[in-house]
Amino acid sequence: MKSLEQLVRKNIWSLSPYSSARDEYSGKEAHVFLDANENPYNQPFNRYPDPLQRDLKKVLSKVKGVPEDMIFLGNGSDEAIDLTYRIFCEPKKDNVVSISPTYGMYEVCADINDIEYHKVLLDDNFQFQASSLLAACDENTKVIWLCSPNNPTGNSLNRDEIVKVLSLFEGIVVVDEAYIDFAMQQSLRKELTRFPNLIILQTMSKAWGSAAIRLGMAFASHDIINIYNKVKYPYNVNLLTQQQAAKALADPYETDKRVKILIQERERLIVSFRELPVCEHIYPTDANFFLARMTDAQSVYDYLVDKGIIVRNRSNVQLCHNCLRITIGTKTENSELLSALRQYAV
Ligand SMILES: *Cc1c(COP(=O)(O)O)cnc(C)c1O
Repeated sequence: MKSLEQLVRKNIWSLSPYSSARDEYSGKEAHVFLDANENPYNQPFNRYPDPLQRDLKKVLSKVKGVPEDMIFLGNGSDEAIDLTYRIFCEPKKDNVVSISPTYGMYEVCADINDIEYHKVLLDDNFQFQASSLLAACDENTKVIWLCSPNNPTGNSLNRDEIVKVLSLFEGIVVVDEAYIDFAMQQSLRKELTRFPNLIILQTMSKAWGSAAIRLGMAFASHDIINIYNKVKYPYNVNLLTQQQAAKALADPYETDKRVKILIQERERLIVSFRELPVCEHIYPTDANFFLARMTDAQSVYDYLVDKGIIVRNRSNVQLCHNCLRITIGTKTENSELLSALRQYAV
């Protein structure tokens, strides 16, 4: 790996971050706070929240087995994705390399930040070769984006190839694990100390059922996390979100139970889809959704919309021609989808 100083933009490396009242005072017990121009009334929301979300990180650290100082929290994973560009990539000069198809936000954020985005097409099994990703890199490639399990394909990427990229690439490798709790494959969290260039993204939005609170996490070396913390908005995660996330995380068994039901339902849906005349192929999945190639995705999509059932038509995505992406719902919702599709006349 190149040194962080070589990888981080010069202006960011030398940045003196904004220092909030809450940053400057974190000493011993105090009871009169006249330092932040807050209103003394209207408790409990009159005070600024902890900019470093320390209470929440304590809980997360236990659940995830990652030290608190190796965790960044943001307004959804989307914030961590955007910050990654702003930290490492010089507009109009640097570039990133990504697999395709994958999650659309990596490319949108590259466009917003004026960073070149190089795509390397996955093979017919939606897998990649480390060598072809590395061949797409040049001296200005700062970041490689991987997503496993991948969206919209659903499959986990080959772990040996991910490890090859981590070992051979001199820049930052982001592995987005938004769907890892549904996967057979293990998270890469245990590999953080082995690979200082690894950044793992996870989220409360999927397995934890908390998309509305907007809480995304990045796990990385302490040095990388420090840079994220200095570039983020001081109060990027509001107090309600911090409290609600801690509450959800306090009951991991409940989440486990729901994840198991969703995986069972996924398998049930897949078995039934295989028997539908309109379904040509189901791709392997490790997520809370699956990709199905249909005889005519658009007409099935329109038919379902007419019945008030919305799935995602991914036909315009590379390698996903005629594919629908189906999110696993409750048992009742899944049964309604199936019975609608059984009534569909080809
Ligand atoms: C859903 C999803 C996320 C979650 O994004 P949030 O901003 O945390 O809600 C991240 N990455 C991928 C690949 C996703 O599909």
